[in-house]
Amino acid sequence: MERIFRGNREWVEKKREEDPDFFERSAKGQTPKYLFIGCSDSRVPSSQIAGTGPGEMFVHRNIANMVVHTDVNLLSVLQYAVEVLKVQHVMVVGHYGCGGVAAAMSDKQFGLIDNWLTNIKDVIRLHENEFNFITDEEQRFRRLVELNVIEQVINLSKTSIIQNALKNENPPQLHGLVYDIREGILKNLNVKEHMLKRFAHIYGMQEPS
Ligand SMILES: [Zn+2]
Repeated sequence: MERIFRGNREWVEKKREEDPDFFERSAKGQTPKYLFIGCSDSRVPSSQIAGTGPGEMFVHRNIANMVVHTDVNLLSVLQYAVEVLKVQHVMVVGHYGCGGVAAAMSDKQFGLIDNWLTNIKDVIRLHENEFNFITDEEQRFRRLVELNVIEQVINLSKTSIIQNALKNENPPQLHGLVYDIREGILKNLNVKEHMLKRFAHIYGMQEPS
């Protein structure tokens, strides 16, 4: 742990040198424009990969960047970000080489986490036709990372929080991105509105007539 405290002191010193008012300003509050929902993987540092600094991005991370409707933690972060902080963009950020997605693709048991990974297995079931058609194992892995992000953006759009926000002016925009660990590049999957509205008749997205 020594390394952590030493690293902290060095960071404080460096920050004070670069920007003497930084901590005073930070203490006054936050007005982030972005909510980042990403994977807990240590190779995907949310703020750094987007070049944003402290105060710019509200962050939620879990294994394989999932949006699960019964996850009170995720829902609380989402509600606070959308309704109180009024973020303008909510992004689900997956990454190639995701251990959670790889585990879900395998037929092995890993313990408690299997119940979480079931949500990714559901993505395979939803896209089984496309998924089984890809013969190359690496390509299947990469595609599942992408499909998982797309499904989590759809899951976001189904929450009562986003549904209610859509009734207001300037609702947050939803995005699905994938981070390529090998190159460091963030790719936009361009999750289109029509994909989010495809199941409007089920999830109550239509305006009452
Ligand atoms: Zn991951």
